[in-house]
Amino acid sequence: MDAALLADGRLHAVLRHIDEDLAAEQRAAGCPRCGARLHSARYPRKPRGVPRGSRAEYDRRLSLCCARDGCRKRATPPSVRFLGPKVYVSAVVVLIAALRCGPTPARLRVLEELVGASRRTILRWRRWWTEELIATPFWRAAAGTLMPPVATPELPAALLERFAGDARDRLLAALRWLSPTTTGSAAVQAT
Ligand SMILES: [Zn+2]
Repeated sequence: MDAALLADGRLHAVLRHIDEDLAAEQRAAGCPRCGARLHSARYPRKPRGVPRGSRAEYDRRLSLCCARDGCRKRATPPSVRFLGPKVYVSAVVVLIAALRCGPTPARLRVLEELVGASRRTILRWRRWWTEELIATPFWRAAAGTLMPPVATPELPAALLERFAGDARDRLLAALRWLSPTTTGSAAVQAT
């Protein structure tokens, strides 16, 4: 898995389009509580780890709100750009944590320049993958669809390997697979 993929502006544009599709699906389904029409209620985000040229793809989290007085329920669709309340964008949290052999000092400097994540942050992501995520109800339900089972100490690299195509295709597929964890009710707490 190649962390240089993060510098590819097209990747971030594709991720934004996927989020727009996910929001459109949710909008078409109507309010999850009363079935009324949903309004756009997007809100600003200022995530870290976004390459300079792609910031505009990450400045809004798409969200929806019921249009009916007395309900007004917020419905936040799944996202392939924002992994719950994490500060860094999803693609970074997947790709950097997937570097198999652990970052060398030289490599760390490159990563730090590219995404601005410290070694401590990167190690925290590894723990999130290998300890926290696998303890969630989402993982317990969804991991059963991956046969044979994924070797959890090898996450997230072991997850990326389960999807077909080139590095970008596999990243996109993994982010879609994870996207149910990003909605309001199922948001996975992590930094
Ligand atoms: Zn409603």
